[in-house]
Amino acid sequence: MQTVAIVGAGIAGVTACRSLRESGFSGSIILFGDEAQEPYDRPSLSKSTLKTGGPPPPLAKPGWEQEFDVEMRLGERVISVDFHARSLVLDRQRSVTFDKLVLAVGARARSLAAARSAPPGTVHVLRTLADSAALREELGAGRRVIIIGGGLIGCELATTVRTMGCEVVLLESSDELLLRVLGRKMGAWCRDRLTGLGVEIHLGVSVTSISTDAGVRDVRCSSGRRFTGDVAIVCVGAEPSVELARDAGLACNRGVLVDACGRTDNPAVFAIGDAASWPLRDGGQRSLETYLNSQSQAICAASSIVGQAKPAPQIPISWTEIAGSHIQMMGDVEGPGAIVERKSPEGDASMYLRLHNGVIQAAISIDRAKDFAFVTKLIEREFEVDSNMLADGTTGMRDVFKAASRADVKC
Ligand code: NAD
Repeated sequence: MQTVAIVGAGIAGVTACRSLRESGFSGSIILFGDEAQEPYDRPSLSKSTLKTGGPPPPLAKPGWEQEFDVEMRLGERVISVDFHARSLVLDRQRSVTFDKLVLAVGARARSLAAARSAPPGTVHVLRTLADSAALREELGAGRRVIIIGGGLIGCELATTVRTMGCEVVLLESSDELLLRVLGRKMGAWCRDRLTGLGVEIHLGVSVTSISTDAGVRDVRCSSGRRFTGDVAIVCVGAEPSVELARDAGLACNRGVLVDACGRTDNPAVFAIGDAASWPLRDGGQRSLETYLNSQSQAICAASSIVGQAKPAPQIPISWTEIAGSHIQMMGDVEGPGAIVERKSPEGDASMYLRLHNGVIQAAISIDRAKDFAFVTKLIEREFEVDSNMLADGTTGMRDVFKAASRADVKC
């Protein structure tokens, strides 16, 4: 009988538990989570949970741990790993042995040097349910909220907080919003939409200090500009949590280095989710920091643990909700080739697709979930597509997919 210990009870850790059982693993599974709550859905923290104050959706239905025979150890923090003894150290007295270990420890919010001298509790970040609850306490109609960082969290928060009746000032250091995940064209699209919602956006802003005086947050920038508000939130990226792995001697860069099966340089240890630096299908290796990639990495690592390794080089895939639109993305939109803009039959942009040598490498879809499902298959299968058909929004993506698969069969 083997024991698999999984550290981290987010989407990666919970999916790994379920996948192990679904793959036929009959040994013991122990899941450690340092938060006390039942595993919950993080994407809602910047959206419905913040807005309503209700509980976030659970990651698994009640009683799942009995159904999947998982020993859940919530509110327990693993402080170190001893690979020689194959044990997890919980504190001075307690340790737990394992045969295989899965590190699903996630990432933390990157801190901003300019905010380090601000009094505790006066500058928010958003990563956990506790963060979302603390932020909600400070929001209310007419409150002026300064968001530092115009990436995914910044833009999702700007949307939610604005619809809660707050004034929103969004400060981004780059010359466009959302460059890392959505690229320049979509960044500009989102900026227009957020401006339409009444969000005040400043690009190219470098924040040098954040202080609080008589309850007023005072944000100063290198250009000499000042922004004052009632609430300040820093969302300037995430840092994969590598400390447990690095202190135990595993190879890490920005993330724990793994192969395409999730194995670290210790064959008994796997890393998945935001903490893992995973090989990409198109070359390179990085932490992907998305929900859907975390799930696919967990499934892959579980197969490897039960001896049915199926290498899964990743294609980044994610979604977001910004200014009332459901935006889905797959692949890296910035790269070689050309961007094809697909309009909806009504004439609005509905998709941006990066096409290289006739093959879609990346796509961003705006409120076109059904079309996006076909695009994901085209990207995965690397079928050649007709770029004119692709650009023509009156031709359904199902038809584009069918034509591309017929052409692929003939080849
Ligand atoms: P992000 O990387 O998406 O965006 C950070 C933004 O902050 C970037 O636009 C960057 O240019 C900007 N920035 C960096 N330093 C700055 C500074 N000093 N001043 C002003 N702007 C600065 O990171 P995030 O929005 O903080 O999100 C954190 C993590 O959570 C990411 O890994 C993200 O992928 C993940 N997340 C994902 C989703 C989703 O998939 N829908 C939603 C929310 C968060």
